[in-house]
Amino acid sequence: MTNLSYSTQHIEQDDIDGVIEVLKSGYLAQGKKVEKFEKDLCDYTGSKHAITFNSATSALFGAYSVCGIGEGDEIITTPISFVSTSNMLVELGAIPIWCDVKLDGNIDERLIERLITPKTKAIIPVHFAGKPVAIEKIHAIAKKHSILVIEDAAHALGSSIDGEKIGSISDMTIFSFHAIKPITTSEGGAVLTDNDEYAKKLRLIRSHGMVKKEFWNSDMISLGYNFRLTEVAGSLGITQIKKLDKFIEKRNEIASYYDERFKDESLFSIIKIDEKNITSRHLYPILLPPELQCLKEDVFKELKDSGLGVQVHYKPIYQNSFYKEKFGNISLPVANDFYKSEISIPCHQQMSLEDAEFVANKLIEVIKKYRYTGCSF
Ligand SMILES: *Cc1c(COP(=O)(O)O)cnc(C)c1O
Repeated sequence: MTNLSYSTQHIEQDDIDGVIEVLKSGYLAQGKKVEKFEKDLCDYTGSKHAITFNSATSALFGAYSVCGIGEGDEIITTPISFVSTSNMLVELGAIPIWCDVKLDGNIDERLIERLITPKTKAIIPVHFAGKPVAIEKIHAIAKKHSILVIEDAAHALGSSIDGEKIGSISDMTIFSFHAIKPITTSEGGAVLTDNDEYAKKLRLIRSHGMVKKEFWNSDMISLGYNFRLTEVAGSLGITQIKKLDKFIEKRNEIASYYDERFKDESLFSIIKIDEKNITSRHLYPILLPPELQCLKEDVFKELKDSGLGVQVHYKPIYQNSFYKEKFGNISLPVANDFYKSEISIPCHQQMSLEDAEFVANKLIEVIKKYRYTGCSF
C-alpha cells in the first residue's frame, strides 16, 4: 500500500548510488561533496553563501549566534513552529516574544510593530507549510526599526515570493534537510546569507572556531562546535536538490487536487495560496470549524485507523511545559485556535492522484460522521 504519511522522504537510485560512491571513496567527514551541495544551494536560491550544518537546529543556533543575539535580547517570532525556532533563542539567553498568527498559520505582520521595544533585535518568521509570509511588510518594519530578519524556512526550500526564491531575501535564512523536509540529507540544515562577515563566522562556529595555518598548525580563534555535515549527507543533498522542482511540482499537483475538491467544503476549511508565490507545499493543513474542535481527537484517531498518516502542526510553543515554567501562561487567540483546528493530511511526492482521491473521500466521510455529534458551547 502507498505510504500515506503527511510527508515523507523520497529516495531513488541516484541518491543510493551517490551514497555508495562516498562510502567507497575513503573520505567520509565534511569535504568536497558538502562543498558542492553548498554551491548548489547558492545556485538554486541565488544566495551568495550557503553554510551547511548537521541540522536546522544547529543552523539556527549558528545564525542567532553570529548576529550577536544574546542575553536579554527580545526576538519577535511565531508560536506556530517547531520548538527549535524558539529553543535556540533561549539557549543564547534571548527572550522569544511570540506574535500571534493569521488564519494561515503565518505570523501576523500587522501585530509585529506593537511588540517592538528598545531590546528588540530581530524578527524570525516561519513560512508555515511552505507558504511564504508577508516578507515585504516584515522587511519594512525591520528597516524602520533597524532590526534583523532571519527566516526559519525549514518548510520552504523551493518556495518563492514574486519570482524571488526564499533563501536570498533576508539577512539570513535557515533550511532543514531532516528526513521529511522538502529535500533530505537524512539530517541536516543550512544557513544562507549574502553577508560575508556572517558567512565567515558561521564556518568558524560550525567547526571548532579553528582556522588552518601552515603544515600541522591550526589556530582556534573563536569558540566553536562540531556542527558539520558528513560527505554521505552532502552527496544526498546534491542528488536531492536536482529533483527538488520535480518534488514540488508533484506536491503541488496533489495539493491542487485537494484545493479543487475542498473549495466549497463546509465541513472544514483550507488555506488559500497566493497566486504570485510558489509554495513547497511541505504540509497540507485542513482546519476544523469550532463546532468540531472538541472532537478533534476522535477525528484524528479515526483518520489514523483508516490508514491516513495525519499529524498536527503545531502546538503553540508557549504551551509546552518548559516554556510555561519559564515564561508563565501565555495565550494568543489565533494561535490557540489554529492548534485546536489544524490537521495536516497526506501530501507528498510519492502519492498518486488516486491516493489523493482516497484521502479526500476518507476525510469527508469521517468528518461528516462526527459533524452530527458536534461540540456544545
Ligand atoms: C524541522 C524544523 C526545524 C528543525 O529542523 P531540524 O533539521 O530537525 O533540526 C526548525 N524549524 C522548523 C519550522 C521546522 O519545521
